[in-house]
Amino acid sequence: MNHQPSDKPLTGDTRLIRQMNRSAILQLIREQGPISRVDLARLSNLTPATAFSIVEELVELGLVQESGIGDSAGGRKPKLFKFNPNAFAAVGVDLRVDRLIAVVTDLDARPVARIVHTYQGDIDGEEGARLISAAAQEVIRRSGMPFEALVGLGISVPGIIDTENGVVVKAVNLGWEQVPLRELLSEHLTLPTHIVDVSAALAVGETHFGAGQGARNLICINIGSGIGSGIVIGEQLYWGADGVAGEIGHMTVDEDGPQCRCGNYGCLERLAARPAIIERAIKGLKQGAVSSIRSLVDDRLEEVTVQTVVTAANDGDEFARGILNETGRYLGMGIANVVNFLNPEIVIVGGGVTETAGETLLEPLRQTVKMRAFDIHARRVRIVPAQLGIDASAIGDATWAIIKAGLLASSSSVPST
Ligand SMILES: [Zn+2]
Repeated sequence: MNHQPSDKPLTGDTRLIRQMNRSAILQLIREQGPISRVDLARLSNLTPATAFSIVEELVELGLVQESGIGDSAGGRKPKLFKFNPNAFAAVGVDLRVDRLIAVVTDLDARPVARIVHTYQGDIDGEEGARLISAAAQEVIRRSGMPFEALVGLGISVPGIIDTENGVVVKAVNLGWEQVPLRELLSEHLTLPTHIVDVSAALAVGETHFGAGQGARNLICINIGSGIGSGIVIGEQLYWGADGVAGEIGHMTVDEDGPQCRCGNYGCLERLAARPAIIERAIKGLKQGAVSSIRSLVDDRLEEVTVQTVVTAANDGDEFARGILNETGRYLGMGIANVVNFLNPEIVIVGGGVTETAGETLLEPLRQTVKMRAFDIHARRVRIVPAQLGIDASAIGDATWAIIKAGLLASSSSVPST
């Protein structure tokens, strides 16, 4: 890292260096605070003068606060500084086919306000933009945060996203293609806006503030009406050449399986996402399976949900258990392949289906990975539920806005020792 005296006029280049140094110091204070300026200079390899002036700047911005006095090896005891997550706030909106969740969070992505909107029928891009903007404004109002305190808006949509241009390239479930969502939103809102796929949002949130904290390499799998994943390698989200890495849902797990909406046969998503679980239950019941699911829905089979299957399974219903075991086995097969290929420290499983089914689904999944993973390390991989719950993607969206504002490093800046 370059040393940059603060009293010289800043040119373009030096401004950038200054910005990078400021981010590095801020991240160090986030991770190691309360911390003294001398320790910050030492850990960041900046001169004490530079570190001191950056801390001063961060204090003026409200991002950093004094926090007591540290010990001294001799001489004057140093002031300590810590991060102030309440200096600014971020907005996250997780848009799905039939509902959206909007949150305002502090800079540690802790929600301070939250709303859920449900809707019926198809929404096009313009309607989507209108719904997002209305929800964002409503949740901002409820948070009591002044508009100037907001660093940005993160939005997730289930689909293929051109994050750079803020365009939803394709969202099958919404029926969207080439929707310039950021541009549509700019007619309603003036916040810096960032759009990502819902699985990437989940991975970003869980990596920084959820079950993935401290892990450098992880996979975050999202099981809902489809199956997607976010891949984190060396603390960086891996996007792939076209920004569409992580399509685990279309991995073949049964070549003789049913046809998927992508055209292939036996995709993981076709066999283990929400519609597959419901389809398997209804099919079995129609073929005469004995199960308490029938009475749970008063014989109205079209009302079977994942929740019904889970309720029956947890009451000891063998048929329902069988469905979730089979689903868990398919998921385990797909995950074992990914674990063999990428050797992650941890696999985080989230999304609506996982939220509903919990351990009833995770247990057969873990068993299958243990059996199928290649070596002892892979078999030891931790498979855990997402920690941020049903709001995980919305929190991930807000986290993404915080990262994009330069207030959270997407990878650790602390030199490894
Ligand atoms: Zn497929």
